[in-house]
Parts: sequence; structure tokens; C-alpha cells
Amino acid sequence: MFHANILPLFTIVEWNCMTSTIQDIHSEVFGCASSHVVRAPGRVNLIGEHIDYLGGFVLPVAIDKSLHMAVSPSESGFCRFWSAQAGSDPVSVDLNQLAPRDGNQSWLNYCIGVMALLRESGVAELPGFNATIASDIPAGAGLSSSAALETATALVVSALSGADLSPVERALICQKAEHLYANVPCGIMDQLAVGCCVEGHALLLDCQDCSTQLVSIPDGTSIVVSDTRVKHALGDGEYRKRREDCEAALSIMQADSFRDLTIADLESSQDKLDERLFKRSRHAISEMERVGQFVTALEAVDETQMGSLLRESHNSLRDDFEVSCPELDLLVDASYDFGVIGARMTGGGFGGSTISLVREDAAEDLVHYLKNSFQQTFGREIEPFMTVASGGASVIQS
Ligand code: ADP
Ligand code: MG
Repeated sequence: MFHANILPLFTIVEWNCMTSTIQDIHSEVFGCASSHVVRAPGRVNLIGEHIDYLGGFVLPVAIDKSLHMAVSPSESGFCRFWSAQAGSDPVSVDLNQLAPRDGNQSWLNYCIGVMALLRESGVAELPGFNATIASDIPAGAGLSSSAALETATALVVSALSGADLSPVERALICQKAEHLYANVPCGIMDQLAVGCCVEGHALLLDCQDCSTQLVSIPDGTSIVVSDTRVKHALGDGEYRKRREDCEAALSIMQADSFRDLTIADLESSQDKLDERLFKRSRHAISEMERVGQFVTALEAVDETQMGSLLRESHNSLRDDFEVSCPELDLLVDASYDFGVIGARMTGGGFGGSTISLVREDAAEDLVHYLKNSFQQTFGREIEPFMTVASGGASVIQS
């Protein structure tokens, strides 16, 4: 069993995402100029957590931290990958042997998986290329660095081979790569968010049919992201268990989707479900309802309603879905103590990051407040940062 999250080699955490810089690094590493540069952002999810794989609506925003990949064509039959964050020599990949890697090369599985599936689906002849990767998205922080790596790979292969993929087709291939090559049974949110987000907007995404709708982020609203730097070893296994719990509950209730159920339906099935399955279902159904309510509140700039929905979402993830942890809870509580619009954990949980929506003029003070609160409680430093809603992945030089 290979595991894509073993990457003890993330040494270069800070990297200045300038196009010219990655082009320079590429020339240094591979001794030739790059022909294309692609950019793929990280993302946060405003609301709709753990319901993408249940066919719900979710509301992600691309952040202004991103992964860049510079490439140059090379002899056919081989690719070579070098990542500033993996910190090793370039790794060679034989295009006729696209098998998953183990150990400290397991990060390559996101790239290998995308290439193998692009070939399998018949959309692209795989070209040989050299790739330089550099990213300022912290890996494993719940900000979708993995989807950024997959999406950048898919964009690069498309650009070099002339393959014509829609953003949704591309996202589906990237998701399948994460399932089959990284062994993570993720939903479709991350890949669609990374591929389709638009500057200044959140993306209301229907995970049942992959349709999207843009929702403006009100002027003067900042998003502060706080990475707890907690990575629970149990995370992936627990994630899978949550999916299994939800499937078991649906089967007992003889329903196809939580979207077809209300809290009243759930209560009428209470005697058939044990307490754990009841709680998992209550999160799924209530979170699905909250997404629609949150979009209405966002459009009306109703900050009070936004704040209580984000609070309810966090509490539901903490108490019913049981995917939070003390570090996430502290950051959310401290955000509300400070007086934010709203805050919650974002991403899969068991560590990872929180988001706090705050008025722009208070964002810097909030960053200090969260840093201090965290330091006082857990005795270690975190680096909360302000972000703005950015555009999705694209080719930025060709
Ligand atoms: P998240 O997507 O929330 O950041 P994941 O565990 O899904 O967390 O993905 C993190 C993994 O993605 C890393 O362990 C590594 O394998 C891969 N990865 C992400 N960014 C890079 C990078 N810049 N270089 C190499 N591998 C990366
Ligand atoms: Mg990921």
C-alpha cells in the first residue's frame, strides 16, 4: 500500500511565486529555458464540509497562494520532475512504466496518476518533459496542495500535447488520480475549486452534476487562514470511515442521497440508526441546508447570519462528524472572541486549517490575536495569513 502523504522533505516553506523566479530555477535545474509555466492555486472552503463526496453543494474560494510548474519538452518516453519542496535531485519517470512510487518519491504519485489516466482516457499522447515545481501552499494543511499539483500536471500535459479538456473533465481525471494513485477517497471539490474559481468570488459547486455558479465576496471582507500544523496520522483512515458511516446510514434509511432527506426524516428514522450514524447523518443533512442559507446571507451581506451559520457548521463538524481537534477549536473560539464575522475549520479536519471572515481593516489585528492565543495555549508558533479570492489554475506563460 503506497501512501502519498509521506513527505518529510518539505524544507523550503517560503517561496516567492514570481514567474521569472520559477523560470530561472528551471534553467538552473535542467539547463534549458522553460516553454510553459502554469499556476494552480490552493483553496479554502467557506462552508459545505465533508459533503462533496455526498453530492452536496460546497462553497470554495481559491486563495492567493499557489503552485507553479515550469516545463520544457524533452526526449520522448521520459519525464523528469523536480520540486523545491521535495528537495531532492530531479526524479525520472519512464512514461511506459507509470506505476506508483513509494517512500520519499510518493509525492510524484499525484503527477504520475494524472499522466497515466490522461493516457488511459485517450485524450492525450504523453509528451516527454522536464518539470520544475515550486509552491507556497503549505502541504497537508487542508489547503489542497495535492489538487494544485494534480491540476498543474494536467494543464502542462494538455498544453504540450494539444489535448482539449474542459475544466470539469480535467478535475475528474485529477480526482481519480488522487483516489487510485494517492489512495485518498476525496470528493470533487478540491480539483474543481483549483480549476474553476474566479477572482473576487466564491464558487457554489453542485457536487452531484459539477455545475457551478459564482457568488461575489463582499468588498472589504478578508479571509484569514490559520494552519494549525497538526497532521493526525489517523486522518486518512478516519476520512474513509466517515464516508463509510454515511453510506451505511443512507442504506439503512433506504435513501440515495442526504439531499433528499430533511432533519425531520432523520428523526423519524432515529430508532434504526445507532448514535454514531445518527450524528454523521445530522451533520450531512444540516450542512447541506446551511450552504444555501449561507449563500443567501453572503449575497445580502448579512454578517450576523453568516457568523451563526459558520459557527453551526464548525460545531456540527466538531460534535456530530467528529473531525475537529483542540487546535482548530481554539482558533475558531478565539476568532469569535476577537469579534470576526465568522470562523470555522476548513478542509477535511483532524488538524489542517481554519478560516476567519473578518473586515479588512481588522484582519491584521486578528492575525496577531490568533498567533498569540495559539502560542499561549499550545506553546508553539503558527503563522496565520490574510488571503483574497483568486482565479483558478491557468497557463501563465507559453
Ligand atoms: P493538502 O492537499 O491539504 O495540502 P494532502 O495530504 O492532500 O494535503 O496533499 C499533500 C501532499 O501533496 C504532500 O504530502 C505531497 O505528497 C504533495 N505535494 C503538495 N505540494 C507539493 C509540492 N510543492 N511538491 C511536491 N509534492 C507536493
Ligand atoms: Mg489534498
